[in-house]
Amino acid sequence: MANIFIISAPSGSGKSTLVNEVRRSVPGLEFSISYTTRKPRGSERNGCEYFFISRKEFEAMIRRGEFLEYARVFETDYYGTARRFLEKAEKDSSDLLLDIDVQGAEQIKAKLPDAVSIFILPPNRGELEQRLRKRSQDAEEVIQRRLETASREIENYEKYDYILVNDRLEDSVEALKAILLSERLRRSGRADANLSARAEMFRLDRIRERLRPILESFGEAAASGK
Ligand code: ADP
Ligand code: 5GP
Repeated sequence: MANIFIISAPSGSGKSTLVNEVRRSVPGLEFSISYTTRKPRGSERNGCEYFFISRKEFEAMIRRGEFLEYARVFETDYYGTARRFLEKAEKDSSDLLLDIDVQGAEQIKAKLPDAVSIFILPPNRGELEQRLRKRSQDAEEVIQRRLETASREIENYEKYDYILVNDRLEDSVEALKAILLSERLRRSGRADANLSARAEMFRLDRIRERLRPILESFGEAAASGK
């Protein structure tokens, strides 16, 4: 049975950067390439970051039941995970990494409760805005919509099994690896005490204090988890 790892984060937090690093260094980890109706950004290519399809094609896939989950993100575009990625991971005896939003994470957890979920946060709202601008691939209006969505998405952090603040990239890569590897070992009955201890540092009750100023920077609702 493949282990499923769900990673969610507000856009611009550095999730793709982190996921790419981890994919390079953790063997036996397949990545689900999502389908989306949004247009490619910068150097993105069809079949690499996403499968870019039309709304009509997306709706046909929904009708054929080809999605494990799908959602409308930013109220504009559809994004979905094809079932075949899970089937392939099972066949290859690999684990599967899903980079999906909060709505998708909820759907997967409802269907596959053993999935491990990880929420990635930026160090604060100002840094998130800077990262969105630094990427400089989105129009101002898109950046503003992503910042607004971020405040709403962040309210869901408590639903995740692990929470990671992506401050220094090298530390975040090591932390994410520790979470993936410790869960993998534990589930195969070969728990590693050292690795587990490192992963446990990213449980909500261990980092609640660190989260407070971050959530406050996103406003009242995010800070109260409402
Ligand atoms: P996401 O996939 O969450 O939308 P990206 O991985 O595209 O975000 O990262 C957004 C921008 O932030 C990129 O320019 C990336 O190089 C940068 N970035 C990612 N992680 C860090 C970090 N820990 N510190 C500083 N910049 C970062
Ligand atoms: P972006 O447009 O920045 O690549 O991604 C926007 C958001 O869509 C991110 O939060 C990302 O995790 C989410 N996303 C990407 N693929 C999927 C998917 O297959 N399903 C769901 N529900 N969300 C996805």
